[in-house]
Amino acid sequence: MQRLGFKEWLAAGRAIARGDLLRDSSPGQACAKFEERLCAMLGARHALTVNSGTTALVTALAALEVGPGDEVLVPAYTWMSSAAAPVHVGAVPVLVDIDETLTIDPEDIERKITPHTRAIIPVHMNNRPCNMDAIMAIARKHNLLVIEDACQAIGVKYGDRYCGTIGDAGTLSFNQHKNMTAGEGGAVLFNSDRAYARAFNFHDIGMSFRNRKFADAEPEFLGFNYRASEITGAMLNVQLSRLPRRLAGMRRRRDILRAALRDGGHPVAPSHDDDAALGLVVTFDTEDEATAFATRRGVARIHDNTKHVYTNWAPIMNKRTFHPRMNPWEWAQSRIEYTPDMCRRTLDLMRRSCRIGLGESYPVPLVRASARQFRQG
Ligand SMILES: *Cc1c(COP(=O)(O)O)cnc(C)c1O
Repeated sequence: MQRLGFKEWLAAGRAIARGDLLRDSSPGQACAKFEERLCAMLGARHALTVNSGTTALVTALAALEVGPGDEVLVPAYTWMSSAAAPVHVGAVPVLVDIDETLTIDPEDIERKITPHTRAIIPVHMNNRPCNMDAIMAIARKHNLLVIEDACQAIGVKYGDRYCGTIGDAGTLSFNQHKNMTAGEGGAVLFNSDRAYARAFNFHDIGMSFRNRKFADAEPEFLGFNYRASEITGAMLNVQLSRLPRRLAGMRRRRDILRAALRDGGHPVAPSHDDDAALGLVVTFDTEDEATAFATRRGVARIHDNTKHVYTNWAPIMNKRTFHPRMNPWEWAQSRIEYTPDMCRRTLDLMRRSCRIGLGESYPVPLVRASARQFRQG
């Protein structure tokens, strides 16, 4: 499967030839076109292109008015950005265990809710949807916001809806490792007009002159510059056209590998939508079995990808920000502590689980040949 090719090169070249690389609200721009197409494909009301998945999360939280004094529930297995984003808006992350699906555990969400909890960030890790029915029910019951981190699940469904369109906001990342890429980039999805208007203001420093559509929505407030360039927008339009084929290719490889794993009697981890979930995980009874299995081709133990293990998020674990007086933990409503053993269940699951690479960049016959190593047990 081709990831980047002549079409991206041509689209970026056209954008450069056009010479209008700054995103604003002038007609015919690539970012605006991309947002319209993304909304149509995913069934979202609004989309806003930004410059990364991290800034997409920050923008979503700011748009929904999450801020100082708020606690935000975040899974202990994710990329650190999901836990960093609340800090960037003045709130603090509270870590929640994952369950055997390797996504945030709704039961532990309920245990971690306090009077200060304001939002939940479920993360659809590794193209595997979270239990959104349970999470949305908890959110309604406790009046919490839900920001879906769908950075690792672009185009993946949960039931009949797409990841990122179910909660109050959804975020996507277009960095090099995601389902679609422009090198760097991100997007925020909203169903609320007000949140979108606030997000637009926030992502463009807080001056509405580039945003005629919602200029009167609310007085301007200070933001950042998280704009994506028109080169990014042009490349994303090509990548979006490639996405259905890319996902179909992943699905095909998943089916081959999953059948082989099941034939070989390997314990494939459950998911919240076996048809939609693309990422394959096997979870053993013991750590040793997982370590041995991880020596096979295309297999990696989840715990060994240390960047996604919360104990290695040094700035969060040590509550260190760029300035000691700009530190949300200092003004949190209660003392938030992070210890290496605070999410033991997550650590245990990560140690006993392996991720099976789908081999998206290899032809199907090669994936089939590689799958034989699982069929024999
Ligand atoms: C990649 C990723 C992000 C952040 O994306 P960037 O574009 O690298 O900022 C956030 N959350 C998760 C779960 C991710 O995988």
